[in-house]
Amino acid sequence: MSGPRLATLEGRAIVMWESGHADVARSSAGRWGPDPRTLFDDWDRFREWARGLAPNGDGAPSPDRLGAPVPEPRQVFAIGLNYRAHAAEAGYDTSGLPQVFTKFPSCLAGPVSRVAAVSPRLDWEVELVVAVGRRAERVEEERGWDHVAGVMVGQDLSARDVQLAGASPQWSLGKSFPGFGPTGPWLVDPEDLDDRDDLPIECSVNGEVMQQARTSQLIWSVPQLVARLSAVCPLLPGDLVFTGTPAGVGNRRDPPVYLQPGDRLLSRVGGVGELVTEIVGPPPGA
Ligand code: ZN
Repeated sequence: MSGPRLATLEGRAIVMWESGHADVARSSAGRWGPDPRTLFDDWDRFREWARGLAPNGDGAPSPDRLGAPVPEPRQVFAIGLNYRAHAAEAGYDTSGLPQVFTKFPSCLAGPVSRVAAVSPRLDWEVELVVAVGRRAERVEEERGWDHVAGVMVGQDLSARDVQLAGASPQWSLGKSFPGFGPTGPWLVDPEDLDDRDDLPIECSVNGEVMQQARTSQLIWSVPQLVARLSAVCPLLPGDLVFTGTPAGVGNRRDPPVYLQPGDRLLSRVGGVGELVTEIVGPPPGA
């Protein structure tokens, strides 16, 4: 991993390296930050400044102190059924257009988090998440990556009972309980990856590998998603896109497997980092 990565520490934007970090507002004498959201409004210049920065010598904070790298995006897009093997296990046809829903931003959490087992059918979905760095409106696929500030690991936690209740599926609501959107541990510049279109992605529960794939297997690639989404909604700086999950989710196993209090969910994207999500008991009255 080379190059600076954007993270948040106690609500303040920081730039991180393997061995150190720098507080964005202090290092820039207030030109940037500390609110991480404001950096995306002038991403190109911020990126150039951050790449010329050096660590302050305070060391790198441990991941359990970090928050969501983009804590308050204006829009969060999520894509369903974007890996063939997952669409097949879920029993869906993958022809046509990508399936789009939202994870309401209040569900976002940081890289080391606890989530309450609010559902008897709580399920995992590891995903590559991209953050928009430049407004995108009717962008062509060839220019899709130009609008991406960085990538991170995400979990699209899902209450399958809530998601599938009612006459028509409620994807957005069933995937937006508090803590259902762990992200991080930091935002990695796509230029710092060996191949931004082919990253290993996996998740495990209590050490057992449940999902394992590569992002080159996405049916709709990152640039194609930027093109498709921006044909309808302008993508705004700091918006997130959860790009979909590979095969191996819990509710399509035989018998189905769901997350229980005490379980430890590990989500990883090679070259980017990992998330640790601990499942705890439901809150009183839930
Ligand atoms: Zn998903």
